[in-house]
Amino acid sequence: MIKGNNNLFKSGKPRNRIRICAMSYRTSKAAPRKKNFFSYLLPAWQRIFQAAGGPAAGARASIINSEKSRSSLIFLHKFIDQLELKQPRKMLIAAARQIRELNEEQTLVLISAGKNGNEMIIAGQTPTPVLNFEIAGLRARFNRQNSELKTTDATAPTATVRPQNRLRLIAATTADGDLDQLLLYSNGLPEADRCELLDYCLTHLGKRLREARNWHKLQQDNRIDSLTSLYNRRCFDEIILKEIERSERYNHPTSLIMLDIDHFKAINDNYGHRTGDSVLKNLGKILRDEVRQSDTPCRYGGEEFTIILPQTRLDEARRMAERIRKAIARRDLFTVDKVKFNVTASIGVAGTELNSALDLVECADQALYRAKNNGRNQTVTASPTVVRLTPITSPIKKLENPALSRCFQNLSMIKGDC
Ligand code: GH3
Ligand code: MG
Ligand code: MG
Repeated sequence: MIKGNNNLFKSGKPRNRIRICAMSYRTSKAAPRKKNFFSYLLPAWQRIFQAAGGPAAGARASIINSEKSRSSLIFLHKFIDQLELKQPRKMLIAAARQIRELNEEQTLVLISAGKNGNEMIIAGQTPTPVLNFEIAGLRARFNRQNSELKTTDATAPTATVRPQNRLRLIAATTADGDLDQLLLYSNGLPEADRCELLDYCLTHLGKRLREARNWHKLQQDNRIDSLTSLYNRRCFDEIILKEIERSERYNHPTSLIMLDIDHFKAINDNYGHRTGDSVLKNLGKILRDEVRQSDTPCRYGGEEFTIILPQTRLDEARRMAERIRKAIARRDLFTVDKVKFNVTASIGVAGTELNSALDLVECADQALYRAKNNGRNQTVTASPTVVRLTPITSPIKKLENPALSRCFQNLSMIKGDC
């Protein structure tokens, strides 16, 4: 798809600069590059250069630039090597911004296309209308493939819009297994791009992206309960601590719902554990459907579930708990011999308005216990945390005035007499 040639060519800007050893790439579709006046002069220039035993002033500048370009590419490779394994999109933006450093005047389009989703990062100079038209063309092309192309604009706003060259594919990797294909388009002049090295850097970036995806998957596996796809207990412990801390810092209420399926053991005993599992799975789906985006439903353990409700008052939390309880009772959570059954759940609700933040889980658990004792299939709000007043035990000062102490002695004697 991409052809490489080792033509020596001249830079466009500034006009008196001559690049050596730069490598150009062109796509098969692009028009062949015309040799210009300076490229015919190059062999002659080289002879002069050798005869003189050293570079002329202009050539020396170009060698320095060439060295600069090579060292920036080595830096780019190191930069990619040390990229933090974050979201792939963030890594792509960081890499595109770093590639832009090779030539500040260019507009870059970095595309990652593959089964993990298509991303487009636009970096560098703000594109001119002509470039925008070309970018729209690229977008249309990658949108048509498997998934929708997500576009991120990471361009630097420029005060003056300069006429820019057209976009060209300057480096690309091949899609390999679960490695996405990375394509780099630029309107920068080829002088700044050592395309072979850029290809190498892109391949490296592709591998780092794969590492990031694997790392995220591992993280997810550690945090998500495989049966219900809700957050697991470990994750719940982390999130509740963070939310309590936030609610104390910003002084907003946080509520907690704790839910337990009624007589779940009987379902297991009568219909088997597989049926029990499908009940848990269906319940997980109901919780995901019923909560808001900001709420966090978790599987606390066994057939117990929790929902963390940030910035939610206790009365709101109670209303949501009732809605969930009714949804569970209404829906058929399991089917045996084509007969549909429904289950019920008991719910305890606690909130930082009435309960001590540190005892929130304990308070919700106690409320749940009361709901069970009161006959199940109901919601109970936790009773307010009793604030225990600790007596102030200040040491009684020894009375230093002898007259006063004698007076107190007399007083106690009189009391004793009475
Ligand atoms: P109560 O109304 O008092 O809550 O009664 P219960 O039967 O729901 O409560 P109990 O604590 O006696 O039983 C909980 C059962 O949940 C026991 C355990 O075997 C079952 N269980 C826990 N985790 C799973 C699971 O992942 N799958 C299945 N199928 N059952 C589970
Ligand atoms: Mg239980
Ligand atoms: Mg139960």
